[in-house]
Amino acid sequence: MATQRDPISYLGEEYRSLKEQGLTWEPRELQGPSKAVSLVEGREVIVLCANNYLNLSTHPRVVAAMISATEKYGAGSGGVRPISGDMSLHRELDRRLAEFKGAPASLTFQTGFMTNQGIIAQLAGAGDLYVSDELNHGSIIDGMRLTKADRAVYKHKDVDDLARILEEAETRQPAYRHIWIVTDGVFSMDGDLAPLPQIAEIAAEHGAGVYVDDAHGEGVLGEGGRGIVDHFGLTRDQVHAEMGTFSKAFGVVGGHVSGSKELIRFALNRSRTWLLSGGVPPGVAAATIAAIEVMEEDPERVQRVWDNRAYFLDKMNELGFDTGHTETPIVPIMCGDSLTAKELADFVWQEGIYILPIVYPMVARDKARVRAQLCSEHTRDQLDTAIDAFKKGGQKLGLI
Ligand SMILES: *Cc1c(COP(=O)(O)O)cnc(C)c1O
Repeated sequence: MATQRDPISYLGEEYRSLKEQGLTWEPRELQGPSKAVSLVEGREVIVLCANNYLNLSTHPRVVAAMISATEKYGAGSGGVRPISGDMSLHRELDRRLAEFKGAPASLTFQTGFMTNQGIIAQLAGAGDLYVSDELNHGSIIDGMRLTKADRAVYKHKDVDDLARILEEAETRQPAYRHIWIVTDGVFSMDGDLAPLPQIAEIAAEHGAGVYVDDAHGEGVLGEGGRGIVDHFGLTRDQVHAEMGTFSKAFGVVGGHVSGSKELIRFALNRSRTWLLSGGVPPGVAAATIAAIEVMEEDPERVQRVWDNRAYFLDKMNELGFDTGHTETPIVPIMCGDSLTAKELADFVWQEGIYILPIVYPMVARDKARVRAQLCSEHTRDQLDTAIDAFKKGGQKLGLI
């Protein structure tokens, strides 16, 4: 007799269990554009959780570029880039991004997630080794899981642990053919930076490649927002693959990898996400090119993000909040357990602040937080309103 099996009841059970632990996602509906102040669930609120650091998604030039390219070239690209969807705008975007990054070449993808998944799944295989920071983004982890390469995880930002792993790896017989060290540039939950110069040094000692995911660093770090490789003044011989996204500071959507011509040719020929999934619409490519132009011409925007970040962080620290180890416009407000993080987010929501709790499995169970992200457009008045709301909420919940 066949097993008595219910195909889907476990889904409901799992949901109920998540709900009891306060771990479900309950996104709020954004009814206006992504801006410093927008309409969310019928209320005008200060938005403190957008990745739109430079407010480029509503920049008139970026929007106009999207409209005019759409009128001229249509809504979609008509195919995967390798077959029929490789429009002039895609190629121009590849070229303009490489110029902006100061890299020999770039290849742009549909999303940052697909960039990581496509490339990391191919760079290494059986007989190779990935060495990964324990707090790396899920798209990196998924990419590594698609390979037969060995994986070793080092403690967060711990270069001694990284060096130890690489020394141990040298004893393997037969020797690893290729070793890649993979790290987030900015860690998105804490806003801290990878120790990239030290990583590059250790990598060079072992002939290992360095792959950095700079999703939250672009537009924020380095000269005019050129990213983490520029920030640390490293070369393309030290950091071999710099990956990023257009869905954050660039204000549009898409992903890229920048590095040597060999790397780009390899990515183009091997990444299944690039080869087997449609290219971004021409309007998206045009808007992204416009976003790069705005960044090149108006580096003040980047400075405004940093000024806002300094103001907010100082005031929150003065109030006694634990803001972790941030080095960027990501400011975590540590709450401990997930229910406290939810209560703080709900409290400030009532005061007109839109921010979300970040809970397990995004972060450890006892490290739940609300995560603030500053943008170039926030005014001092808006930040003061937010700080005041956090003060009241923090006092009520015993966080300060
Ligand atoms: C957001 C993010 C991604 C994914 O980028 P998308 O373009 O939104 O898919 C990848 N890595 C990190 C570290 C991110 O923060």
